[in-house]
Amino acid sequence: MNTSHTAREIDTSRPHSARMYDYYLGGKDHFEVDKKAAEAVAEAYPGIFVCARENRAFMHRATRVLAREHGIRQWLDIGTGIPTEPNLHQVAQSEIPEARVVYADNDPLVLKYAERLMRSSPQGRTTYIEADVNDPGALIESEELAAVLDMSRPVALSLNALMHFVTDAQDPYGIVEGLLAILPAGSALALSHCTPDFDPETWEKVTAIYTDAGTPVQFRSQKDVARFFDGLDLLDPGITVGHRWRPDAGSGTEQDSEPPTDAQVSLWTGVGIKR
Ligand code: SAH
Repeated sequence: MNTSHTAREIDTSRPHSARMYDYYLGGKDHFEVDKKAAEAVAEAYPGIFVCARENRAFMHRATRVLAREHGIRQWLDIGTGIPTEPNLHQVAQSEIPEARVVYADNDPLVLKYAERLMRSSPQGRTTYIEADVNDPGALIESEELAAVLDMSRPVALSLNALMHFVTDAQDPYGIVEGLLAILPAGSALALSHCTPDFDPETWEKVTAIYTDAGTPVQFRSQKDVARFFDGLDLLDPGITVGHRWRPDAGSGTEQDSEPPTDAQVSLWTGVGIKR
């Protein structure tokens, strides 16, 4: 193991976004410090649990729609998070058993659980890469990626609840554009992104909690989220609040008895295809 990895040992003295998200989803892979920070977020924004759940549900539907209607057989999912069933490859392989999925995250804790992301169907293939979206070159050039994805065929780039951790100073649009540039025509971008649009005051508080915890965040407006799709053919119904994106593609088990409000969900979602 190299020293740079040792230097990035799992830090349990500070809350971490992946473990806070695990708490929102009702998982068990977080520590007391994460629970405290997540509870502070939930106090400011009780919708966070609905937001996290609807974010997963969007990933399920976007994956199914891309597999069923757009011929996608390969996915590159960056900012995967702590494994949560069903993971993307389980959704994709339930449609297409041959589906191939590369997962990437920069949190060493996710690496610890990556084995759960490797339980591929026998016909398909998955792998996990510890990588930072802010260094897309290293990710794209990695041997693990080349072993699983055929970059001459369409790939869906899946960036769910990731890009709000990349501030404007880190060139988020340039990063996404650069990743899409190396994918062939017919590839896709599926993206979800938290937004202050429906309740700016609450999201100011959420921003402060993450920033104080040492995680810079930038939640964006619909217009700014739409910029990630520049140059792509946006699928219907366009950039919508998470639960409004193709609800017909749901499994039927995801529907709350009471539909959520836009402010609870506070998540812009969309899927675009590269010409
Ligand atoms: N995509 C999953 C998890 C979202 S939580 C889902 O939508 O359900 C956000 C994840 O992004 C966390 O696991 C966090 O570790 C990861 N992340 C944050 N910044 C990152 C970066 N710069 N590079 C790679 N992953 C990052």
